[in-house]
Amino acid sequence: MRILIVEDEKDIAKFVKNRLEIEHFAVDWAPDGERGLFLASTNEYDAVILDIRLPGRDGMDVCKELRANGKKFPILILSVKDDTVTKVEALNMGADDYLTKPFSFPELLARVRALLRRQTEVLASETLEVADLKLDTIKHVVTRAGKMVKLNRKEFALLEYLMRNPGTVLTRSMILEHVWDMNADPFTNTVDVHIRFLREKVDYNPKRKLLHTVHGYGYKIE
Ligand code: CA
Repeated sequence: MRILIVEDEKDIAKFVKNRLEIEHFAVDWAPDGERGLFLASTNEYDAVILDIRLPGRDGMDVCKELRANGKKFPILILSVKDDTVTKVEALNMGADDYLTKPFSFPELLARVRALLRRQTEVLASETLEVADLKLDTIKHVVTRAGKMVKLNRKEFALLEYLMRNPGTVLTRSMILEHVWDMNADPFTNTVDVHIRFLREKVDYNPKRKLLHTVHGYGYKIE
């Protein structure tokens, strides 16, 4: 899943980005409102973490404009302001949640996960299932027919994205958008290479293949 952080305080942004990457998210960072608006308008994010006090256009303004442009991803507002008026204003602008600074990373992570859960109807246990394949989105454990499957971070993120969209054909560009950050090169065969690695680890039983290539379109899991 791919997340955008719009935050001018570099230390906070770097801290959140690093920690989210450890949790297998692809993360982009925008240091001001203008850049945040641009990235959020040109990429497919699964959630946006938005600071209110930013140089240039503030977070409220960015949030309002994104909603006016029809962007539907969940937005989590970060702010040092803890008064009810500001919180209500942010929610009325189209934000989905509000977290006061300073915050603890576990709380931020739990809130991001809650927002993603609303989007994709993950089970309460946070485990995704397709046939006998199971993926625990919190513990980062994958099993096939009860046997542990060892995946690296990117393979895990790719499998999670596929499993959040079972039976849906996902194009290479959709996969790149949701699993890789803005530094990914869209002209390489990165996606195909990672699908191949994933197949070797997940689809070792030829009788019941779960990862399917849809020629001319992309990939799906079912
Ligand atoms: Ca700020």
